[in-house]
Amino acid sequence: MTGIGTLPDTTEQADLREMVRDVISRYAPPERVRELDEASAFDLELYRALGEAGLIALDAQVDGSAGADPRNQIIVLEELAAGPTSMAVCLVVQYMGVGLLTEYGTELHRSTVLAPLLDGSERVSFALTEPDGGTDVARVMRTRARRTDEGGWILDGAKTWISGPQHAANLIVLARTSVSERSPIDGITMFLVPTDTPGITVRELDTFAIHSLDTCEVTFQGVKVDGTAVLGEVDRGFRQVLGTLNGERLNAAAAALGIARGALEAAVDYGRQRQVFGRPVGSFQVGQHRLVDGAIQIEAARALMLQAADATATGARVDILSAMAKVAASDAAVDITDAGMRLMGGSGFSKEYPMERLFRDARLYTFAPLTNEMLRNHIGEKHLGLPRSF
Ligand SMILES: Cc1cc2nc3c(=O)[nH]c(=O)nc-3n(C[C@H](O)[C@H](O)[C@H](O)COP(=O)(O)OP(=O)(O)OC[C@H]3O[C@@H](n4cnc5c(N)ncnc54)[C@H](O)[C@@H]3O)c2cc1C
Repeated sequence: MTGIGTLPDTTEQADLREMVRDVISRYAPPERVRELDEASAFDLELYRALGEAGLIALDAQVDGSAGADPRNQIIVLEELAAGPTSMAVCLVVQYMGVGLLTEYGTELHRSTVLAPLLDGSERVSFALTEPDGGTDVARVMRTRARRTDEGGWILDGAKTWISGPQHAANLIVLARTSVSERSPIDGITMFLVPTDTPGITVRELDTFAIHSLDTCEVTFQGVKVDGTAVLGEVDRGFRQVLGTLNGERLNAAAAALGIARGALEAAVDYGRQRQVFGRPVGSFQVGQHRLVDGAIQIEAARALMLQAADATATGARVDILSAMAKVAASDAAVDITDAGMRLMGGSGFSKEYPMERLFRDARLYTFAPLTNEMLRNHIGEKHLGLPRSF
């Protein structure tokens, strides 16, 4: 295929893309991705290799002096998502952790948590969603942290659908610390809590997809932490997280785009080879047009994603562009994996091909980290100037 996934990289970006592809081809060829998906196992070797290659740190520094260029992160995520998709999901979380620790971490946080994160020796999980709600989590948040007389905190509550806590050294947890008259997003504090702290229980959930990264419920029962566990300012944690969400959306767009591209490449490959009525199945117009529509969706989503990345890099307004990019890329991933399944007939059902996994994995970014319905609400209100729809 011409152009797809390769343009318009600069020389440095093309080198970075090549480096990621090289790591993937050495550590995560398709048969290994499939085996780990079936075994619901995390690819620690691949993760370490990404860390050693500097792909978790990119240009972030332990001293917090520089944030990663969003244009580099999206290249890494797109390439991973097209192959070992669960690893891209893991890195979306790690990049968020790097961002939060770089911006709000103290020297202690940076040396003990950020440093091993950047070199790939440890991971973090981000725990916001709760059993009572994800979309309106601030309003329904039940996880609480109360101060102790010694200046520490005690956390009680539960988080759900949390990516990767089984193998993470630390959790970034959002907990209610006071009730604000002004807004439910005030009075929430961000904590950095080691996963082996007494009182924390992690239970893996049985999920539909993203099988090579654990998705878990995490409960906190009388979890004691000292005052240094606060990340940023007391009562302003949710606002601090909101500041990073555009970046997370952009990264989610890149991962969804990678899934879409991986599926399109697999479908085109199959369409060229499989013979039906003595012709390649990709020569029939109906299937071919579905793939063409997919290619158009990919390039449209890519254009939005690159605009959003440029806006982020230059400090321009990015909320609308990152929301549009995430919606466009995740819708493209769903449509293209569906087109791929149709084109492949029974082979689409077979685990010998990556299509069924991509078809499952593609669903994640239609609702995470924020649902496409809520992003459309945001675009309707803030871009089109329509009355708020909820
Ligand atoms: C595999 C996986 C990994 C995840 N990883 C993490 C993680 O690492 N950390 C974390 O904190 N969370 C994580 N999540 C949670 C994820 O962010 C939430 O699932 C998501 O925010 C949606 O919340 P919900 O599932 O509670 O849906 P709900 O909030 O219950 O929403 C249900 C439906 O209602 C719709 N809806 C709600 N309000 C409106 C409205 N105003 N207008 C229109 N429609 C509306 C939604 O769009 C959605 O379709 C993960 C989830 C999964 C499945």
